[in-house]
Amino acid sequence: VESLTVAELAKKLHKEPSELIKKLMFLGVMATINQELDKDTIELIANDYGVEVEEEIVIDVVDIESYVDEDKEEDLKERPPVVTIMGHVDHGKTTLLDSIRHTKVTEGEAGGITQHIGAYQVETNGKKITFLDTPGHAAFTTMRARGAQVTDITILVVAADDGVMPQTKEAISHAKAAGVPIIVAVNKIDKEAANPDRVMQELTEYELVPEAWGGETIFVNVSALTGSGIDELLEMIQLVAEVEELKANPDKLASGTVIEAELDKGRGPVATLLVQSGTLKVGDPIVVGSTFGRVRAMVNDLGRRVKQVGPSAPVEVTGLSDVPQAGDQFRAFADEKTARQIGEARMSRHREANLAQNTKVSLDDLFNQI
Ligand code: GDP
Ligand code: MG
Repeated sequence: VESLTVAELAKKLHKEPSELIKKLMFLGVMATINQELDKDTIELIANDYGVEVEEEIVIDVVDIESYVDEDKEEDLKERPPVVTIMGHVDHGKTTLLDSIRHTKVTEGEAGGITQHIGAYQVETNGKKITFLDTPGHAAFTTMRARGAQVTDITILVVAADDGVMPQTKEAISHAKAAGVPIIVAVNKIDKEAANPDRVMQELTEYELVPEAWGGETIFVNVSALTGSGIDELLEMIQLVAEVEELKANPDKLASGTVIEAELDKGRGPVATLLVQSGTLKVGDPIVVGSTFGRVRAMVNDLGRRVKQVGPSAPVEVTGLSDVPQAGDQFRAFADEKTARQIGEARMSRHREANLAQNTKVSLDDLFNQI
């Protein structure tokens, strides 16, 4: 609290303003009901009523996006890579994601019903990989536009019978701009017209040179349709992940990014969160974008209820007061009061920003009409 009027302070203390004015007079302060009181005076009056003035919220925590976690090296543990799939339309992104999910998920998790939550995890050789299920381009453009960096590795899918196309080039530039390593999956290798050499040749123009040709880019020939090459692709992902030394501290309050969110008729706001640091637990007070709440329930990509999830895990969360946006950051807090205060501060800031934008738009419209 930096300053309050006499009326505001009276309300907080559940006293009549006239009583406060009298008390102030005794203290040598002549005040009117709308007079601003400074911090010291507020404290003086409050203490006189036996009320402790609460510590102010730490303002820089309100900016959860720029809040930097300081982790000690020894607290950092290996975490699964987060992978997105990009490539030209019809080159097989969706088929590849489905194929990976079905071959791997059903293997380990007998009877596990896969649920669409915008991301899923598979396990190979005892290690997990997280795949973002949202269209790779959207994941990059909307999330990066909001300052979120979620992808560790990108799989560039190129159909062996079609070669490099406009969206292939676009995907390469997105990944390069983000500094994310690329693994090339040359898809549709089962097709008669497949020409993987041509794909390699074309990609050298974009500095994606296969190891066999003296470069550093990993190429894997796959068929999303028949499943051939998928195991090798997953192994290559883990290889790259090892080189990248992806780590996070699991032993603290969680933070991360919203993958997708919607309003569910029965459950209210539902958000798929990617935990990037710490461990998220049921009951955690949480600030998500411009909203907040308490984690009521968590459901994983297999549709199972879970109590807690660690780094790189996607999880569907309920208990928020509003629907956040994809790319929003989230952060869990130790107590609900802090989460609420920060959430409310962010909410009103968001509202003001929206208002300013709407005003601008209507002014523009006005000028257009003239
Ligand atoms: P997306 O637009 O990149 O998501 O591409 P889709 O996954 O929707 O695939 C486009 C079409 O290519 C579909 O008809 C798929 O069945 C087909 N397709 C995908 N992968 C393969 C493959 O490995 N081999 C063959 N023959 N067809 C494939
Ligand atoms: Mg698709």
